[in-house]
Order: sequence, then structure tokens, then C-alpha cells
Amino acid sequence: MPDGCLFCKIVAREIPATIVAESDDALAFRDINPAAPVHFLVIPKAHHDSLALADDEALLGHLMAFAAKVASQEGISENGYRTVVNTRRDGGQTVDHLHLHVLGGRRMTWPPG
Ligand code: 5GP
Ligand code: ZN
Repeated sequence: MPDGCLFCKIVAREIPATIVAESDDALAFRDINPAAPVHFLVIPKAHHDSLALADDEALLGHLMAFAAKVASQEGISENGYRTVVNTRRDGGQTVDHLHLHVLGGRRMTWPPG
């Protein structure tokens, strides 16, 4: 774990989070500052800085499939939802531990800001 990584600390249960689902390799928890009625993050338990550096295709596939499964459990599958991976500075990434946002419960707009 890189020193001080916030999401590694959530995986280690060193700081609290509202966890909604867990698999062997991934954790889903509610975003602390939700941008939609349903807003959770899906992260790998192992530290990866960003999508730009993630080369484990099986893990990336698992994160996507797990996000869809949790979205279904959260009741947003039928109406739909937005999945977002902000990457590095221009992508708006603020936490340097790879994460997928899943947002639902309202109609999303396009293009994003
Ligand atoms: P990014 O901007 O890197 O794509 O997304 C980081 C997300 O992590 C933001 O939506 C932010 O609200 C969320 N976040 C930051 N700190 C915490 C925290 O301590 N707990 C939880 N649950 N979410 C956090
Ligand atoms: Zn980390």
C-alpha cells in the first residue's frame, strides 16, 4: 500500500466507509459526496494508481462485471446508470487508487463537464 492511500485504508478497514458489496478482489462503497441518489465506487483491493497504469485485464473485467452486479442489487439496473473512470489530471482524478464511479437514480446529462 502506498503511504497514506485513502482507498487502501478503506480496504484495510482503517477508515470507515459504507460498504455495499465485496468480492475477493474488489470492494464497492458509497461515495462520501454523492453526485446522484445512488453513487458508489468500485475499487480493486490491490492498489493500482489509475486506469493508465492498470494492465491486469482479468481484474479490469471483474471490476466492470462487479459494478454491474452491484448496480443491479442497488435497484438502478432497469432505468440505467452511468459508469465513470476519471484518469489522472485532465480526467479529474482526485484519489490515486483506481476506481469506477457508478451513478444512478436520476437522468444523467451528456457531455460531462
Ligand atoms: P475522483 O475524483 O478521483 O474520480 O473520485 C474520488 C471520489 O472519492 C470522489 O467522488 C469523492 O467524493 C470520493 N471520496 C473521497 N474521499 C472519500 C472518503 O473518505 N470516503 C468515501 N466513501 N469517498 C470518498
Ligand atoms: Zn491504494
